[in-house]
Amino acid sequence: MKMILLGAPGAGKGTQAEILSKRLGLVIIGTGNIIREAIASGSALGKKFQSYTDHGALVPDDLVVEMVADRLSQPDCSGRYILDGFPRTVVQAEKFEEMGATVDAVISLVISDEEIMERMTGRRVCERCGTPYHIHHNPPAAEGVCDKCGGTLVTRKDDAPDTVAKRLAVYHEQTEPLVDFYRARGVLTSIDATQGMDRVTEEILAAIGET
Ligand code: AMP
Repeated sequence: MKMILLGAPGAGKGTQAEILSKRLGLVIIGTGNIIREAIASGSALGKKFQSYTDHGALVPDDLVVEMVADRLSQPDCSGRYILDGFPRTVVQAEKFEEMGATVDAVISLVISDEEIMERMTGRRVCERCGTPYHIHHNPPAAEGVCDKCGGTLVTRKDDAPDTVAKRLAVYHEQTEPLVDFYRARGVLTSIDATQGMDRVTEEILAAIGET
């Protein structure tokens, strides 16, 4: 199973990727997490990434495609993965196809901009391992502490209201066209992302024939 999760920032891609990864034994390739790790490492590439992410802009296509190609070449991926946050533009999707990559299912998580704004204010992420949480919808067992690794939960800089507004504009302009791109390839299922987390997971599993 090779799956892509599409959706606006805050639609629940990271959360669903975690759940599906456990249920189906799929490796998560989350470009946002890989980019944040590079930024945290303080490398020159990380600094370059930060100049885009801090302003809600997308990292240039070539850099992201190279990063994904590199990750996919590692043995643990071997044909069973979930792409969370990639592709983000039609150019990335085309380059991905040029690499010879195929996908079995693309899930589009549908949600309004207003709902996204409300959700983002409660979003937290583990600064050590990148696991996503939400203070209301998906809280950790102990406030501010990651269930998985005990790391500190933080609000991402790019979840600030102004940046979220910019990211939503970027989503509509650059990423939403991928819905038609994958619909034309016959692999797209759209799911209402405002339902409870468990219901969204059930609908994804049904869409990929895993119920
Ligand atoms: P995310 O955690 O997926 O919301 O990603 C956080 C930030 O990383 C985004 O706002 C972008 O700046 C950058 N990013 C993540 N994935 C991509 C991608 N596929 N293409 C370009 N930029 C990306």
